[in-house]
Amino acid sequence: MKHGDRWQRDYEKVITTQSELERIIKLSDGERNAIEELRTEYPVKISRHYLSLLDPNDPDDPLRKVVVPTMDEMVHRTDGHKDDVHADEAKFQPCPGIVHRYPGKLLLMPTLGCPSHCRFCFRKGRKVQHLSQKDADVALDYIRNDESIRDVIITGGEPLFLSDEELHFWVSSVRAIEHVQIIRITSRAPIYVPSRITQSLVDMLAEHRPIYMIFSFLHARELTPELEKGIRMMADAGIVMLQQGPLLKGINDDPHVMKELNERLVALQVIPYYTIWGISSPGTEHFMVDGEHASNLVAALENTTSGFCVPHLITIARGDKVRMMGWSPDKAAAHLRNRPRAGASTPISTNIMNAAPHK
Ligand code: SF4
Repeated sequence: MKHGDRWQRDYEKVITTQSELERIIKLSDGERNAIEELRTEYPVKISRHYLSLLDPNDPDDPLRKVVVPTMDEMVHRTDGHKDDVHADEAKFQPCPGIVHRYPGKLLLMPTLGCPSHCRFCFRKGRKVQHLSQKDADVALDYIRNDESIRDVIITGGEPLFLSDEELHFWVSSVRAIEHVQIIRITSRAPIYVPSRITQSLVDMLAEHRPIYMIFSFLHARELTPELEKGIRMMADAGIVMLQQGPLLKGINDDPHVMKELNERLVALQVIPYYTIWGISSPGTEHFMVDGEHASNLVAALENTTSGFCVPHLITIARGDKVRMMGWSPDKAAAHLRNRPRAGASTPISTNIMNAAPHK
């Protein structure tokens, strides 16, 4: 990695110890204990930029909950393994770096590294790891050999944790596969390090259009002037941008927060695509929003803002992604209560698509 660019220096200056963190914000005893207890499993890691967005004197600041560990992460439901999306994902991994759950599309994960650790992340606890060249070849061959793959989602970890050269390798290799029409890149990295969006990154991505950049914002306070400038550069270069993010208790489970975020994103040409709710993994139960509340939240946006400021509300049930828009709060709440997860195998939508087409 070159060290000449500011974003690379910003990546290197992330906070990874309790003592560094305490120089910037006052920690509670519980937060100190959590940082110590989670030192190995999921260590604290916060960019200096993100820390500058926190109110250091507000223990309930939503942004603080995104990045500062708490003892709630130590609480694992006794049946939590049944709901562990990350463990479920392992059933769909034909080779390292690929998750192929649905027909026609797959996840490609070149790295599991991130410039900060979100405390809600369902991939938490995975060790930072870049795919080796050998594994990269196997993963790319998997995509080359399956002509049904038309949509490749480059994710991680964080694809923008990679250098421009590494990312160029992945994007150009996938773009060279004739049957792949769409390349999506998911990222929260610029939210932690806005300097990551450089003109050279944008130019490189624009060479491989159509590229869909998928951001995962949680709160309007994450949209800083520097980041807005980077997003405008992407829009000017013809990169399509979407927003998808989780609905999290105490962080963004408020219609005013969602409305402000989505309206500001749309003004920047980032279209809210979906809000995901009800996804569970060990140590994240304290972020879980009640099903009825989730449905009411999105319903509250209807007719109060532009239609495309209202995201789909989705969850995963029986291994299938389900859009909840238009469901009554009762139906949504019942769905969340009843979603059976153990032994999930073939998604229901796959079964119906496998039936003979109408003539
Ligand atoms: S940046 Fe993305 S992959 Fe990394 S911890 Fe946060 S949500 Fe998970």
